[in-house]
Amino acid sequence: MASLQHWVVFLLLSIFPVVDAGHPDWEHARFSSPAWLFIKPGAKYQLWPRSTIPLCYDSDETRDTFHDILWAAMRLWYAAGLPESFRLLEINRLACIHNPFESLYVEGTRDVLASDIGMPLISMRSGADQPEVDKPTIKVFVDRENLGWTIKSAAHELGHAFGLLHEHQNPSFWGPNGADKVFRFYCMHLHDFVEITEGMYEDDVWGQTGVCRDIISAEEIGFSAGDWLPEVATDVFTPHPWWAHDSMVDWDSIMLYQSFSDSIDEDHIPVLTRWDTSTWESSWTPSTLDVAGLEAMYESPWANPMLPFWNDIRSPYFALFRQFSHCA
Ligand SMILES: [Zn+2]
Repeated sequence: MASLQHWVVFLLLSIFPVVDAGHPDWEHARFSSPAWLFIKPGAKYQLWPRSTIPLCYDSDETRDTFHDILWAAMRLWYAAGLPESFRLLEINRLACIHNPFESLYVEGTRDVLASDIGMPLISMRSGADQPEVDKPTIKVFVDRENLGWTIKSAAHELGHAFGLLHEHQNPSFWGPNGADKVFRFYCMHLHDFVEITEGMYEDDVWGQTGVCRDIISAEEIGFSAGDWLPEVATDVFTPHPWWAHDSMVDWDSIMLYQSFSDSIDEDHIPVLTRWDTSTWESSWTPSTLDVAGLEAMYESPWANPMLPFWNDIRSPYFALFRQFSHCA
C-alpha cells in the first residue's frame, strides 16, 4: 500500500507542473526534490550575486567574536553538501561604507537571533513620505556555555540570509486561513500570547485574520506567532502542491523550529506538534533538502549573475535613489 501511495504522489508531482504550467507559481517547477521553501525573489528581495554574501561587521569586537562562528556555521552547510560556490566573503571596511546595501551587516546582540531573508532591496515605511532604507542585517549572539548551539543557530540564520524560509511556515502544510492541517498549532502556548492578546476581542485573536491565524496580523504587532504561521502563498516558492502532507515535511531541516520553541514552558508545553500530537527536537545540521533548496534557488532563472542595484540606471529604484542620495 505504502509503495502504491508513493507512486501516486510521484506521478502527481511529475505531472502537476505540466498541468498547471501557466501559473506563475509553477512555471519553473521542474524540480525533482520534494521539499523546501524559499522566497520568491522580486520587488522586495533578490538573491546574492554569485551566491556570495559579502560581510561587514559593526565593530572590530563583533568581528573578533563572530567571524569564527559564522565560518564554522558555513562548514556545517558544506558538510551537508552545499557547494563551495555558496560563500561568505569578508570585505574591507571601506567597501562596507561605500556599499552598505550590497553586503550583509553582522550585528552583535545580547539575545537576538535574526536575519533578513535573501538580499532585501529597499524597504518603505508604509505611510511615510520617504523611504526607510535598512542595510541587510544578520543579528547574532553567543551562548558561551553552548557553542554548538550558537553555531547551529548561526547556520539557521545563514539559511535565511541565502533566502530560505522556515520549513514549518510552508503554506502547503496548513489549511486555509492558518487552520491546522499537517501540524497542530497551539498559539496560546506562545510565551507572549497573554501579553499580546490581553483586551483583544476573540475574533481578533482566533478569527480568520486574527493574530493566531494570519501571519500579517501577527507580524504587524510583533507577535511571535509570525514565526510559526504559514507564509502568504503568493510570496513564496515551494515545489509542494497545496495537498502536501506529513511525509512531505523535512523533519531534518535546520529551518524547522522544534516543537517547544517560543513556548511558555520549553520543556513540557509544545507550540507545534504533528497531527498525532507527537513532538520533535531541532536539527543540528542542515539537511540534504535544505541544501537542495538553496541549489535550486540559485540555479533558478531568478539568480541573476549581475543585479541592477538601485544606484544602477537599470533599477526601477534609480530615480528614487538619486533623489534621496542627493538630500544627504
Ligand atoms: Zn529562523
